[in-house]
Amino acid sequence: MEQLTDIGALDREGIAGLVAELGQATYRTRQLVRWLYARGVVRFEDMSDLSAEFRTALAERYVVGTAETVVRQESADGTRKYLVRFADGVSVETVGLPEGERLTVCFSTQAGCAMGCSFCATGRAGFVRDLSPGEMVRQIMLVARDFGRRVTNAVAMGQGEPFANYDAVLGALRLMNADDGLGIGARHLTVSTCGLLPGIRRFATEPEQFTLAVSLHSAVAVTRGALMPGVRSVSLTALRQAIIGYADATGRRPTLEYALIEGVNDSPAELEALVAFARGLLVHVNLIPVNAIEGVDLKRSAATRARAFADTLSAVGIEASIRTERGADIDAACGQLRQHEVGRGISDRAL
Ligand code: SAH
Ligand code: SF4
Repeated sequence: MEQLTDIGALDREGIAGLVAELGQATYRTRQLVRWLYARGVVRFEDMSDLSAEFRTALAERYVVGTAETVVRQESADGTRKYLVRFADGVSVETVGLPEGERLTVCFSTQAGCAMGCSFCATGRAGFVRDLSPGEMVRQIMLVARDFGRRVTNAVAMGQGEPFANYDAVLGALRLMNADDGLGIGARHLTVSTCGLLPGIRRFATEPEQFTLAVSLHSAVAVTRGALMPGVRSVSLTALRQAIIGYADATGRRPTLEYALIEGVNDSPAELEALVAFARGLLVHVNLIPVNAIEGVDLKRSAATRARAFADTLSAVGIEASIRTERGADIDAACGQLRQHEVGRGISDRAL
């Protein structure tokens, strides 16, 4: 039998195109999106307000792809990490972070990542493939179901570089944001990039008020180039310019992420370079004590260094905070998400 395509490969425009192609009225797009994402129905035949003829035509061409939880782990702080597997056997990790009224999902945009950052477990494992819009939205739906409540925030900070898969990520954000999709406010949807300039420039022109975070990690070119080989060719001047362009175009304040690594990017000279980079920018600096990853010899900076960074930035008028770590006991913290062979080392709570 011919392999049917996952309808999750289509963004809203793709779905609208399909609806038109099948001779259906425009309003059917909203109905179909609602079935797929607001309601999470997985069989076309169950989409009861679509005509039988339309349902059959859909089922002849597409399937609703699956996102299955293969392993689920829960941290002492309530954070949950899921190993999610798609129909072709490729898996990614997704994290759910409850905090009071909020439920934030950290979702993956690619299986693996090609950028090769030296401090990141995903980067060290290499690239597998891009995820489709549907595969990203389904990660959020899966977490909502597991917690039995609405997801209020989503961050593209799992595996992958979102701007290396720009169109699919944007399609996913729009489905997450849409009232016939997941209904998450645009400002509560955040994309984190290692600094791909065409992506930052394009993101600045999108009409929705999505939030941007840029992983900086060092404002010294040689240090940054060594930590983040995938963006070695992106100059700090050009990156700074793109951030200014983004802030000018949107009026919004991007976050600069900075993982503090002892003896690597936490020296007084590094701090001085960071201050020079951030000064005059409309940004918030998020200082993250680096998380340990297997097989890499890097230590997080002393708490006093993190404080010194935060205090110095604040003293010159740059908004800064130190991020509190979540889920580290289950390797769910930033940078700890990696490609898995199913069940390896995490079989304790296997479903
Ligand atoms: N590829 C994107 C988004 C995914 S990574 C990016 O790099 O921005 C999400 C965040 O986790 C990024 O800021 C990344 O630099 C950070 N990160 C990666 N490894 C880390 C580690 N070991 N400790 C702390 N943060 C890490
Ligand atoms: Fe990729 Fe981001 Fe990890 Fe770098 S930090 S390897 S860009 S996921």
